[in-house]
Amino acid sequence: MKQVNRTQNEQNQVHSAIAFIRKQYECIESEEVPQELLDNKYYKEYEPLDKLELLTDQHIKYCTKRLLNIGYSILYLDVGQPWCIYWPLNALSILQEDVSKYEHKILQYLEKCKIGGFGGGPYQYEHLAPTYSSLLSLFIIASPASLGMIDRKGLEKFFWSVQDPNEKGSYLMHVNGEADIRAVYIVVIMVVILKLDPKLLDGCAEYIASCQTYEGGIGAVRYSEAHGGYAFCGYAALVCMGKAHYIDQEKLLNWLVNRQMEKEGGFNGRTNKVVDACYSFWQGAIFNLLQLSGYLNEQLMNVYELKTYIHMCQNPTGGIFDKPSKSPDTYHTCYGLSGYSLTDNNFQNPIYNVPNKCIDFVQKFFQ
Ligand SMILES: [Zn+2]
Repeated sequence: MKQVNRTQNEQNQVHSAIAFIRKQYECIESEEVPQELLDNKYYKEYEPLDKLELLTDQHIKYCTKRLLNIGYSILYLDVGQPWCIYWPLNALSILQEDVSKYEHKILQYLEKCKIGGFGGGPYQYEHLAPTYSSLLSLFIIASPASLGMIDRKGLEKFFWSVQDPNEKGSYLMHVNGEADIRAVYIVVIMVVILKLDPKLLDGCAEYIASCQTYEGGIGAVRYSEAHGGYAFCGYAALVCMGKAHYIDQEKLLNWLVNRQMEKEGGFNGRTNKVVDACYSFWQGAIFNLLQLSGYLNEQLMNVYELKTYIHMCQNPTGGIFDKPSKSPDTYHTCYGLSGYSLTDNNFQNPIYNVPNKCIDFVQKFFQ
């Protein structure tokens, strides 16, 4: 991996050159490289990027180290401790590691965060975000003990308590907390898979549809800016309920294809923002969801360019960062690898972002 220090101006020049080179020579992947391209001073520097690979062993080491340090390594994220389990755990499962060996330690820890839903750490209040990451970790472990830990009645009670009093179909992240589409997404997908009270879904599709913006993406709440994370949450919830058609999918697709940047190959989260590896999942997964809903019958993102961007965002000793020059973290490692995996095969479920085989197990368990 080559790290080069450049000024912003130099960086822009290089990006323009790469875009120009790639446009002119679609054959950059083929064996024969035209002489004209070989003569281009930027090609020599960037040619090795096409030969980069996913650093699987290094990422496994990176994530294992962080996962086994539950308690110490996650102190800095005090109100989101279950996330610090889910991110490395999901990354390891995507890399086909056997995660059953972590079962005892993770269950022991999450038990301390459990009320009905989960808090961000032991002795904290219930909150939808750590509830989501805790449940996903239990799904990934996919054992009778991990799923047996889920308190469905308690979850139902918690979900009823966070209904938005001002807006039908909307939810708050915690009691008296903020309302946004993340909350609706979490409630919807958990009600569906855990077979909770279907009345909790009343009005959700209509509310999500009302948050689609003039650009075609979905905002956090009505009248807010379209954003990759919220667009994923809103559309995934609709697909999960079989109600994808409640929004204008053509408009969504139009917004989405314009989020993959021509120069870098990765996605940005909003119009006029810079590329970030985590949107490989938040935006990339929407392409898979559009196929899952039946709206598209082929992959429309540029997979090769996205993979090249993720390759560039790898730390040589493991872990993925937001963009070159940043440090790796488990959040970007999880979502970089999740996006990477969704371009490759059918391993990962694009609604839940855990392996499909785990979703099958959970569905059978709660039949
Ligand atoms: Zn990011």
